[in-house]
Amino acid sequence: MTSWKENVREVVPYTPGEQPKTKVIKLNTNENPYPPSPLVGKAISNVKLDTLRKYPDPNCSNLISAIAEYHGFDTENVFVGVGSDDVLAMSFLTFFNSKKPVFFPDITYSFYDVWADLFRIPYEKKSLDEAFKIKQRDYDSPCGGIVIPNPNAPTGIAEPVSFFENIVKNHPECVVIIDEAYVDFGSKSCIDLVRKYDNLLVVRTFSKSRAMAGNRIGYAIGGKELIKYLSDCKFSFNSYTMDSITLAAGVASIQDDSYFKEKLEAVINTREWTKKQLSTLGFTFPDSKSNFIFAKHESIEAAYIFEELKKARIYVRYFSKPERISNYLRISIGTDEEMQVFIDELSKIIKGV
Ligand code: PMP
Repeated sequence: MTSWKENVREVVPYTPGEQPKTKVIKLNTNENPYPPSPLVGKAISNVKLDTLRKYPDPNCSNLISAIAEYHGFDTENVFVGVGSDDVLAMSFLTFFNSKKPVFFPDITYSFYDVWADLFRIPYEKKSLDEAFKIKQRDYDSPCGGIVIPNPNAPTGIAEPVSFFENIVKNHPECVVIIDEAYVDFGSKSCIDLVRKYDNLLVVRTFSKSRAMAGNRIGYAIGGKELIKYLSDCKFSFNSYTMDSITLAAGVASIQDDSYFKEKLEAVINTREWTKKQLSTLGFTFPDSKSNFIFAKHESIEAAYIFEELKKARIYVRYFSKPERISNYLRISIGTDEEMQVFIDELSKIIKGV
């Protein structure tokens, strides 16, 4: 007798960072420590209750127009979704349909292999070098697609636009996705390359630099043909991905550019301060251009520091696998006050060993 279990799509899911219920200093999921723009609050409270009776705009027109105008593209160049996870998953489904493997780094956003497994996409992980840098030559051979975050996560290392242009130029046979979840924190975007290459898709999120992880807004900028294919897949899956409140909130965030830039600068300044403190305490780390630092102590094990910090109600992220990164902690950048408490606790832990 056969069992229904033989027909199950069995997957090993992605494990998101912990969301503790009690009050802690939360430096474990790369959230922005500041609230979104006050205009976002106003836009949310201005949504009439009656609006929720109706389905949201399936074309997300206002949000798409706001994003298109912000980046100087046509609306047909923009696709939006429920966080960049949704946009990335839909992009994997739409574009990675070759028998050849999709390439991505071995140490990177750990959702990529989960989507590839879920959609039965063959893939090959390309190992980072000793300094955790992506080796461009690893991406030279013909493949079914490429996905790379810039800056990479969890290393925080950014590469220049020319690095990605070489990859995109070499691969007219497949779609190249650059995941720019953290690009606003100090590296150069590949968005302008979209005007030149029809096989490039740049994916962005409102979760980090726009402090709106709770809203779930992600988007992609690409050639009109790519975006049309992506939309066709989305409308074959779920027409109403984004809710009315979130759509209004997203437009309001784009409208407040001065607040956006002010808070970005604050996070960047705090990151640079934190780097100096960590060095003094005996940590080493790649030069992060994101809102987190991937750090290793010269003598004390990461797992120990992670547990001790947790006892002090400070949460950072620790990945026990792969082994190459099992002695690193990924520390998201909080407010100045939070980072001062973090550094004080960290020095106590180090002195106590
Ligand atoms: N890409 C990378 C590299 C990330 O770290 C994350 C956040 N976990 C995402 C995409 C997804 O972010 P969101 O779905 O909140 O937009």
